[in-house]
Amino acid sequence: MIRKQIGGTMNLDIKNRYKQTLLRCILFGILIFANLQCVLRPSGDLKGYESHFPHENPSNPIQKGKVRVTFLGTTSILLDDGETQILTDGFFTRPSLWKTAFSKIESDPAILSSVIEKAKINRLKGIFVCHSHYDHVMDAPFVAKLTNAKLYGSSSTINVGLGAGLNKENMEVFPIGKPLKLGKFFVTVLESKHTPPFRILGKTNATDPNFPNITVPLVQPVKALEYIEGGSFDFYIQHGKHKIVIKSSTNFVKGAYDQIKADVLFLGIAQLSLQPKPFQEEYFEETIQKLNPKLIIPIHWDNFFKPLSKPLEPNLKLGDDFEGNMNQLLTRTSKGQIKVQLLQGFETMDLF
Ligand SMILES: [Zn+2]
Repeated sequence: MIRKQIGGTMNLDIKNRYKQTLLRCILFGILIFANLQCVLRPSGDLKGYESHFPHENPSNPIQKGKVRVTFLGTTSILLDDGETQILTDGFFTRPSLWKTAFSKIESDPAILSSVIEKAKINRLKGIFVCHSHYDHVMDAPFVAKLTNAKLYGSSSTINVGLGAGLNKENMEVFPIGKPLKLGKFFVTVLESKHTPPFRILGKTNATDPNFPNITVPLVQPVKALEYIEGGSFDFYIQHGKHKIVIKSSTNFVKGAYDQIKADVLFLGIAQLSLQPKPFQEEYFEETIQKLNPKLIIPIHWDNFFKPLSKPLEPNLKLGDDFEGNMNQLLTRTSKGQIKVQLLQGFETMDLF
């Protein structure tokens, strides 16, 4: 009898413990889900920056001496003077977050062709890759193949080109500090630095010092992490009397801009406000203050897990703070004569 009672009490105990564990698991699941819901939201609302979108989209032929830009998301910038086009990166496939995190990724020829058509890329002479992470280099050799343009990049970028089957004569390791002439554009590649490394879901984008470059041809499909930075680069572009600087990563080499000025600065703002204050100060000093541009166009602000065919949205809260970045930039530029303009995907404007 007593043994039966003890047995009954133990069963009740086990049931209660099971219920409690189940309840904890459900609460934990809800918490994780709520957190994910939160960090997978855009890190800002573009409505608050509506006055910074020019919405010009000129359709008239490009006048002599002028350069027209078309923004193609992340750091993909198409420059066109009516005779010659040059492009940075050309990352158009933009695989989803899940695909990028959990499977191998590859360029989508249908997406590339549709972007090339929609952006009217039809006289492209060169593609310049700012570094060899997947969100910059992945599609570049395939865009080169489809447009017959030459691919310029680091040795890592060239290995991505070789893996894509691009002919050696259609690629060139770019010379640092020496201007390359493409039509009326003179492009000088400047040594730069990648945005300081960060960690998401236990994974870091920091370069392993034992493997700083892609040393063998990289054949798709391949995991995103196989794309190694291989050095980061800025582009100083002269066209007639005008000068443009394209800085894709939020970092700097001290003194790199000491001898140059720019009319237009394409400025990488990804994760800017997440950096320590002294870093932010120096970033502005080494870029805006030195170059003294009339126009700044922020880049690398959009969520590149979403397709380019949809309106661009700010980067996810998971790894960025778009509003913080923009507000820092606008505070810095509010006193001078510097215009800050954001461009939507495929949006165009004449730079000067
Ligand atoms: Zn990168």
